[in-house]
Amino acid sequence: SDTTPLQRGLPIPQGISKDAFLSAVNELRNSLGAEHVQLNDKEIKNGWYMESPNTHDMMPLFDTEEFIASAVVYPGSVEDVKTIVRWANKHLIPLFPISIGRNLGYGGSAPRVRGSVTIDLGRRMNRILNINADDFTCLVEPGVTFYALHEELVKRGLDDKMWIDTPDLGGGSVMGNTLDRGVGYTPYGDHWACHSGLEVVLPGVGEVGDVRVLRTGMGALDVGGEKTWQCFPYGFGPYNDGIFSQSNFGIVTKLGMTLMPNPGGFESFMYTFPKESDLAPLIEIIRPLRISNILENVAQLRHGLQTLSVKGHPRTKYFDGSGPMPEEIVRKHLRETATGECAWVYYGMSYGPAHIRRYKLDIIDKEFHRISGCKRIDPSTLPADEYFWSRDRIASGTPDLEELKWVNWMPNGSHIAFSPVSPIRGKDAENLFELARKRHADAGIDLMPAFCVGLREMHLIVEIVFDAEDVGMKKRAEKCLRDMIDDAAKLGYGEYRTHLALMDQVAGTYNWNDNALMKFNNTLKDALDPNGILAPGRCGIWPKRYRNRGWEL
Ligand code: FAD
Repeated sequence: SDTTPLQRGLPIPQGISKDAFLSAVNELRNSLGAEHVQLNDKEIKNGWYMESPNTHDMMPLFDTEEFIASAVVYPGSVEDVKTIVRWANKHLIPLFPISIGRNLGYGGSAPRVRGSVTIDLGRRMNRILNINADDFTCLVEPGVTFYALHEELVKRGLDDKMWIDTPDLGGGSVMGNTLDRGVGYTPYGDHWACHSGLEVVLPGVGEVGDVRVLRTGMGALDVGGEKTWQCFPYGFGPYNDGIFSQSNFGIVTKLGMTLMPNPGGFESFMYTFPKESDLAPLIEIIRPLRISNILENVAQLRHGLQTLSVKGHPRTKYFDGSGPMPEEIVRKHLRETATGECAWVYYGMSYGPAHIRRYKLDIIDKEFHRISGCKRIDPSTLPADEYFWSRDRIASGTPDLEELKWVNWMPNGSHIAFSPVSPIRGKDAENLFELARKRHADAGIDLMPAFCVGLREMHLIVEIVFDAEDVGMKKRAEKCLRDMIDDAAKLGYGEYRTHLALMDQVAGTYNWNDNALMKFNNTLKDALDPNGILAPGRCGIWPKRYRNRGWEL
């Protein structure tokens, strides 16, 4: 880990004097216990992924002290969260909730407004409140990581019966990832779709100084709601859960999640395709297979360069020129790997007993071979440390960390993602790939795209890996991303999720009918959080106190 002193001093939030802020912090210490409130007045400390900081983004796109917390508080209960909300309303201090804060690529643990007080919910509120082995559901607090949930299944001897679904890295929280609508790679990969029930502390304080807590869906029943809270997500009346994801309308303190029954067998497979121009016909082949569930998981179609970078070596091992690494060099080095020379690699998994898998795998094999030069790589030929086996673990519900390796591509390796959504169409894949290629060439940055194919849409995830110490490269990375967002919007593609720094721009592309959606979000924000204390600016939603006053980026 590395530590540097703060250059700009204690980041006090705007609109409050230092004395008033310090006295407010003392007041909070008296309510919660001094050890549960930490001022961020000394240093910037970065560690590796599992020691990620909770005050700022360890992969900063701007200056590290731009998006940074003034203090971190550690609530131990819902009552503590209510106390913090009451306090923030009294002093008009912005709060930023995180569950674990490993939202790397999207802002890490950083708040959008400099000097916000971060509520690190996960440090103390990290219990698995229930695992229901009959219904295959669980109820978790903010700090439950994918690793912790998996380990608990193992400890209770339930891992053979049911699986979790994990994103590529297992150190994040089930709650934070789900609220940011993250994805994993079993058939339960759409985490938001697989959740059932939330408990939420609302940010506003009513007339008598009360802070409200609500439960969504069946959890709202006066008596016995917990019986069906995790079984039926909707309850009665409007389905409200959506407004608490990718928003700043509430602090979630409990989340229900469904668990996948062990399908009775699984088998990973990997195919390579020789030419970049195979992309469009391949996507056309994938769509009907995916919609009919022959391809069963959120699989990944990765560019060859990403397969090379996930080996974990720095780019300079292969190439030390400037500009994007030439294709022939990528191919030359891929030739020496288990994948062999190729443009695209498809990683997937088939589920169920052998005879059921056989039926599906035969169809996939026949369909994929319609692309000339397609190769199936026999897993039995692959060494145990081959990346394929990491995909195998993840697609069968075992958390992993291998994916971090491509971050080593650059020194001080950091990354930021461009994640547009499109239909599963060859033409759309080509459009997005081409615009990304052009903007990467302009910026002189290596292009590492992966298509993650959901049931009826696909996310293109382009990871820009940059050197966090290289100011020039960070500027190029930001420009590249902003250009891609604009280009994509002109062609009718919008991002499914974005980095803190780009939220205003992305929100601005969802502006149909005179910005009707943002106007609606603003109405909700002003009603639920009239003092504008909760995560101002998150997902482009600014409370009245900040709106149109120069905060937007
Ligand atoms: P947090 O950082 O705790 O939460 C995310 C955001 O949600 C917070 O910033 C906050 O605004 C909000 N939030 C969190 N908790 C609350 C709460 N209780 N109440 C209200 N709001 C809240 N992501 C994927 O989805 N899929 C992947 O496959 C994937 N692969 C990755 C690979 C690499 C190499 C890297 C570096 C990152 C990857 N990510 C991926 C991104 C990220 O690491 C994960 O999404 C991670 O799970 C998010 O961090 P977290 O769970 O700690 O959430």
